[in-house]
Amino acid sequence: MSESPKIGFVSLGCPKALVDSERIITQLRTDGYEVAADYSGADLVVVNTCGFIDSAKQESLEAIGEALAENGRVVVTGCMGGEEEKIREIHPQVLSVTGPHQYEQVVGAVHEHVPYEKTHNPHLDLVPAQGIKLTPKHYAYLKISEGCNHRCSFCIIPSLRGDLVSRPIGEVLDEAQRLVDAGVKELLVISQDTSAYGVDIKYRTGFWQGRPIKSRMQELCEALGELGVWVRLHYVYPYPHVDNIIPLMAEGRILPYLDIPFQHASRSVLKAMKRPAHAENVLERITRWREICPDITLRSTFIVGFPGETEQDFAELLQWLEAAQLDRVGCFQYSAVEGAAANTLSDHVPEAVKQERWERLMALQQSISEQKLQNKIGKTLQVLIDEVDEEGAIARSFADAPEIDGAVYLNGETQLQPGERVEVTIEHADEYDLWGVPKH
Ligand code: SF4
Repeated sequence: MSESPKIGFVSLGCPKALVDSERIITQLRTDGYEVAADYSGADLVVVNTCGFIDSAKQESLEAIGEALAENGRVVVTGCMGGEEEKIREIHPQVLSVTGPHQYEQVVGAVHEHVPYEKTHNPHLDLVPAQGIKLTPKHYAYLKISEGCNHRCSFCIIPSLRGDLVSRPIGEVLDEAQRLVDAGVKELLVISQDTSAYGVDIKYRTGFWQGRPIKSRMQELCEALGELGVWVRLHYVYPYPHVDNIIPLMAEGRILPYLDIPFQHASRSVLKAMKRPAHAENVLERITRWREICPDITLRSTFIVGFPGETEQDFAELLQWLEAAQLDRVGCFQYSAVEGAAANTLSDHVPEAVKQERWERLMALQQSISEQKLQNKIGKTLQVLIDEVDEEGAIARSFADAPEIDGAVYLNGETQLQPGERVEVTIEHADEYDLWGVPKH
């Protein structure tokens, strides 16, 4: 895997410009770029300028000059970007100039001058393939940590990215706040293991808006729940402390949605996979979660055909799925990843058997998911509008993460705006999606 390019950032001016910078940085991180700590380590520098008064313009021009002298590859954006001629007169060598709030164009300029095509790998990437495109303005991925302390035998992330490094809670919450200020309506919390947040820093107490707050999933969820936007958790492992966040979901503080990559249900396969929390009694806990929060939507992924998986193990997985009644399920056939410990395991499963098991699992899950969606007919759900075209609006409810889950179609609703929240009554369902009409 090629090393991620690093982008330097110089942000001048008012809080609005900072919000733009935050949005640009969040998008670039999502696209696989990293933020450079200094000029010399950067492949390119973005200067977000201020043009409010003459002294700010002068400061902006000096900052551009400094970035050119120190690095040489500079993209200019922000308020002074509205005066492109003036900038080019003094600094003709800048690569691109855009105005305020044009974050898509800035991200586009970075891609053009430092091309980085992140090849999507469902085993490695936190963001779905489609998410690598420019994420719409109304939702954003919020990365809370890097790396992972586990050593699942099929995974090479720890050897590529190292052990867990949690971002300071104040920094994460400031980023979240700025994204919300910039118009984001939904935050998607991502990391390799969201439930492990803060373990590496011993749940250190940080500060946010002048108050002490622990770097721990529970406190993070409580604080994010205060921001007034949808908060969706991805990649949570079923550790016992996850039980404590279910009441936050029942109270509507964060979305009643959990993305838990269970990967399997047979103890012996989970053990061979070296999965975290594999010994917890998950079915009982799912029942308890549903007692506390009946609406909770559970999404998961599974691997079939892992080395050593017997027909008995697979039958156990099917029984487990039947009992668990998960809402959304993705399934991969095991394939060796170069450098993964699982490659050395014996009893590899023949390809034809993997395929056959995959088909059986998908058929079972499809009937479960279909039934679950049928049960929503007649209900009223709040949805967030993602797209509007000449046929109507495409939206999502709390049960649908962008790109990976289904949608709620609102036929004929061409007047709605992306990012709007609307109450809809569900009228129709198929095996993946829902159709509804706004409640008037
Ligand atoms: S929890 Fe396991 S699968 Fe996930 S990143 Fe860590 S080692 Fe890989």
